[in-house]
Amino acid sequence: MLENKVGIIFGVANKRSIAWATAQALHAAGARLAFTYQGERLKENVESLTSESMPGSLLLSCDVQDQEQVDATFHRIREEFGRLDFLIHSIAFAPREALSGQFLDTSREAFCTALEISAYSLPQLARSAAPLMNEGGSIVSMSYYGAEKVVAGYNVMGVAKAALEASTRYLANDLGPRNIRVNAISAGPIQTLSARGVADFTTMLKHHAERAPLGRNVDPREVGETAVFLCSSMSSGITGEVIYVDCGYNIMGT
Ligand code: NAP
Repeated sequence: MLENKVGIIFGVANKRSIAWATAQALHAAGARLAFTYQGERLKENVESLTSESMPGSLLLSCDVQDQEQVDATFHRIREEFGRLDFLIHSIAFAPREALSGQFLDTSREAFCTALEISAYSLPQLARSAAPLMNEGGSIVSMSYYGAEKVVAGYNVMGVAKAALEASTRYLANDLGPRNIRVNAISAGPIQTLSARGVADFTTMLKHHAERAPLGRNVDPREVGETAVFLCSSMSSGITGEVIYVDCGYNIMGT
């Protein structure tokens, strides 16, 4: 489905990362991939994951808080690929102390950091990717239900996800005339490194599985395969949307 397509994936930290499940699905669909990791400490992880199943993938260090690294990343993409067909944004961060207790107590610093890394990075990366998407393109980010409803412990990350989802719509409007589509996947809870930072995440997983119409939690593979759909021409009429991949949890009332 994605033969001859090239894309870049932000956010592989380890084999549990949603970005890694997404990379595997995109690779299986025929895409050529570049990966970014944040800092040298994650380089080994990404290298060992890709060397077995995706040898020859382009690996680049990129902290989105450093604009020079972002510029260097897209410069390398231009040199190596000459163009881009899709971008996967699978990054988020909030200081751990902001992910428990009351949202009321969120510090200015924690608020700004969470919003900068988890939401501002979407328009930031889209701005650099768009000039490489000469034949149109697809940008996909990862959101969560805490963007629209209060989820205990999700706190400032819920506010960041609300900004991410609104950014998805504004970017879709800006980039639509260039045939660049921008969508978000709202994934159900998945046990990853970042998820461990959310207070009482295990209870959240159990609650989701009990309430979701499908009676289970989502598999990261299902998120990855939705990203393949959103990056392929099969979704050519879809932009500015938040698509739930949560076993139906979000449709439930009381
Ligand atoms: P993950 O494996 O920990 O991935 C998060 C990624 O964000 C890591 O690679 C992390 O790198 C990266 N990151 C943090 N700060 C960064 C920065 N300044 N520059 C560049 N990258 C940075 O966790 P995940 O659960 O797969 O998260 C991926 C996305 O899915 C996030 O947007 C998350 O909010 C979203 N999501 C997760 C769930 C869930 O339940 N797990 C549900 C819905 C949506 P470091 O490890 O170096 O910080």
